[in-house]
Amino acid sequence: MTLSDTTIHPTARPGADARAERLRSALGSRVVLPGDAEWDLARMPWNLAVDQRPVAVARPETAEDVVEVVRAATAAGLRIAPQSTGHAAGALAETGLADTVIVSLARLRGVTVDPVARTARVLGGSHWNDVLEATASHGLTAPHGSAGDVSVAGCSLSGGLSFYARTHGLAVNFVRAVEVVTADGALVRASADENPDLFWAIRGGSGAFGVVVSLEIDLLPYADVFAGMLLWDAARAPEVARAWAAWTATAPESATTTLRILNLPPLPELPPFLSGRSVVVVDGAVLKTDDAAAAVLAPLRGLAPEIDTFARIPAAGLVAVHMDPPQPTPAVTQHAVLDELPDDAVAAFLRAGANRDLFMTELRHIGGAVARPAAHGGAVSALRGQYLCHTVAMIPVPEAAAGATATARAAVTLFAPWHIDALALTFMDGGVDRRIGYGEAAGRLGELKRRFDPGAVFSAAQPVG
Ligand SMILES: Cc1cc2nc3c(=O)[nH]c(=O)nc-3n(C[C@H](O)[C@H](O)[C@H](O)COP(=O)(O)OP(=O)(O)OC[C@H]3O[C@@H](n4cnc5c(N)ncnc54)[C@H](O)[C@@H]3O)c2cc1C
Repeated sequence: MTLSDTTIHPTARPGADARAERLRSALGSRVVLPGDAEWDLARMPWNLAVDQRPVAVARPETAEDVVEVVRAATAAGLRIAPQSTGHAAGALAETGLADTVIVSLARLRGVTVDPVARTARVLGGSHWNDVLEATASHGLTAPHGSAGDVSVAGCSLSGGLSFYARTHGLAVNFVRAVEVVTADGALVRASADENPDLFWAIRGGSGAFGVVVSLEIDLLPYADVFAGMLLWDAARAPEVARAWAAWTATAPESATTTLRILNLPPLPELPPFLSGRSVVVVDGAVLKTDDAAAAVLAPLRGLAPEIDTFARIPAAGLVAVHMDPPQPTPAVTQHAVLDELPDDAVAAFLRAGANRDLFMTELRHIGGAVARPAAHGGAVSALRGQYLCHTVAMIPVPEAAAGATATARAAVTLFAPWHIDALALTFMDGGVDRRIGYGEAAGRLGELKRRFDPGAVFSAAQPVG
């Protein structure tokens, strides 16, 4: 669904208004309904290309509010979709929202750090940026993704790839406990010792099992990190891409990097030397001493990049290295996982990146600890494969949605000979078979979904069948 259908039709769904009114009487101003002044703002996700039209948007401020929202929604016969930021709104929209209350966790943010235990308690809607702000003064950091305004719950409970990942694995393995409101309206804690089946399921099953009101996560002992980016004009893409592919074949697990071709639009917000240009970029982190990290990067630095920002930086600065858009953006993405990157796959990368209709063609180097299942992990604790290929096309106007989606898909299809049967749940947009992301866990996850949510009340960007 896109912004092309922007007319509000509160009476177009028979029965919807009565259910919405039941929510209003139970929840008052904690729920926003069609026709309310704040409706369009409340239903707007981070991905502005997605025109969300749920029955209502609830905005709880406490765990107790969440309990009341879940009870009121189920009593009204409605489904529930937890949402913290709407980065994955495209995937959620595919589940259909006509009978659904979106539970926005945007007002449930906050982080408490225990520097001795090296853990943080993170409220359900908190962003990675909130965690980094709270941990920096303790010389600690977190396994955040490349964008600081993604939520900890949404990212880590679906896997979570960070620039620490080849050394430390997926972010989901950092989750020690969650407090979650389940389909029966109960607020329960799940950890290795309490409700272990739910704890197993939610680490991968995420919002399909309930609304998470807080998480306890392990932190990483880094006050600073050797990180940055190397940038060349896209004319250098063939030699840079071949060099990066060869370099990643032997790069140590301490190095987690990405290779991208960015086709930047001519925007006044961009610095003049980048605006309207196509560039090739390698960025990431090397978890070694300065000298050792410099030695690891030497073959890439030898290609004389136009910009080289790799240096020791405060760990909280790592979140800015990838230059993800700092504000809500209309876009569509596709991805696939590859086991190898032979010359023909590098050629496919170059062909995809040469299409200026694609904003970004990216290869993330995975493997290492990312591919190793955790000893006491949940439904998802590892991601097989060595590379993740990821494409992003912008949707500047709603009419561009179909073309952008086709472009992003076609670029991933160029890598088809090297696709493996694996997908990263956090990178899923619409149009893919989500079960592939769960692999062998899909069966048990489905059984636990029927046990914990027999009425299939919860819908999620990464649904569990
Ligand atoms: C610019 C950009 C950069 C990204 N970079 C990375 C990256 O480096 N690494 C990576 O792994 N991923 C990355 N992602 C993907 C991102 O991690 C996923 O889209 C993630 O699911 C977003 O979580 P969210 O809560 O912010 O989004 P939302 O759309 O709000 O949530 C997505 C899903 O998470 C679940 N969820 C969220 N909050 C809760 C909660 N409190 N309780 C229960 N369920 C909840 C729900 O099932 C929901 O459907 C990126 C995405 C974008 C757009």
